[in-house]
Amino acid sequence: MSTARVLIVEDESIIALDIQTSLQSAGYQVVSIAATSEEALDDTANFQPDLVLMDIRLHGEMDGVETAEQIRQKWRLPVVFLTAHADENTLSRAKQSQPFGYILKPFEDRELVTTIEIALSRHKAETAVRAALEKEREMSELKSRFVSVVSHEFRNPLNTILFSTELLQRYGTQLSDQKKETYLERIQGSVKRMNQLLSNVLTVGETESGKLQFSPQPINLVQFCQELVDEFHIEEKRSIQFSHRSSEPSDSLFCVDDRLLRHILTNLLSNAVKYSPKGEIVEFKLSLNHQTAIFWVQDYGIGIPSGDQADLFQSFYRASNARSIPGTGLGLSIVKQCVDLHGGTITVESEENQGTLFTVTLPLNRQSKHENNPRY
Ligand code: ATP
Ligand code: MG
Repeated sequence: MSTARVLIVEDESIIALDIQTSLQSAGYQVVSIAATSEEALDDTANFQPDLVLMDIRLHGEMDGVETAEQIRQKWRLPVVFLTAHADENTLSRAKQSQPFGYILKPFEDRELVTTIEIALSRHKAETAVRAALEKEREMSELKSRFVSVVSHEFRNPLNTILFSTELLQRYGTQLSDQKKETYLERIQGSVKRMNQLLSNVLTVGETESGKLQFSPQPINLVQFCQELVDEFHIEEKRSIQFSHRSSEPSDSLFCVDDRLLRHILTNLLSNAVKYSPKGEIVEFKLSLNHQTAIFWVQDYGIGIPSGDQADLFQSFYRASNARSIPGTGLGLSIVKQCVDLHGGTITVESEENQGTLFTVTLPLNRQSKHENNPRY
């Protein structure tokens, strides 16, 4: 039997007590008895009942129909009318307030329970439909935002490529080797940017379709990180200082999902590089024991204003001091999802114009070297 919390609105106290007894013996909890419309609104706000049982004739300025309308609009709670009056006019006004039930006094206990149960389940179903519609609306808003942000971010590097190739084509013979090199580097940089963008877009697609899954494999984490840093070194021409300490033998393998880990680390490292000046170092540290891996990515760049730090992991969120630097605001939301899939945590410490430290902690299962075919 349902243990729903019910508010009774009834101005005749004997009838109210009678209804209370019926409800309680059927297992419901009566949160309060209100005698006027004002009391009914106050009690609804204070007790947040699951359902309101409402007499239509109430003393005071508003009757039960008007009160029910206010409850429906403010709290979207189900209201069941309980009344001795069944005249045409009252009925048609009651109908307009979309009640969840209408019981005529005197009533049978069984009728009361059945009407309440139907009202509760209809309300539950309607709430679920409304939530689904709301989700659908949010998703569609997110999709249009996604398309506009991503197209805009693709246009910038494409324009750079077009501009640089036109200059090389027109003035190639007159340009110094150094200038030519600059334009070629700009083209390469733009292609890399589009590549990273595409990788993020594909990952977001996988997340939405539920295809981004956790499939751990034993890997040599130190080697994996070192190779990633070497790639950054070659591609970004930025030096990342990698160091590691481990309580385990150097050839130990640890179970992580290397694809997800790559998303985590490339996004954190590329942010550290992107949001700090060219000559500044980026530090990347790894600490391993048999249970956890901790990754630290520290830069000495523009930092993140404290007011922006709480929202960083939401899709499209960009801090107020980063607007002049290209970006979609997708990277960290992907990082967060990959960390969550690992059952890990991520934290950020940052101060504007001083730098930023991201710390990722992942739980680990150490594997014996011969258990599987390691990818690293
Ligand atoms: P992209 O989707 O291309 O990575 P993005 O870098 O703007 O774009 P995120 O990686 O999600 O997006 O980062 C969100 C925001 O967090 C950034 O726009 C920036 O404001 C801030 N941020 C992230 N990392 C750093 C950092 N190391 N230093 C300063 N700000 C940072
Ligand atoms: Mg980023």
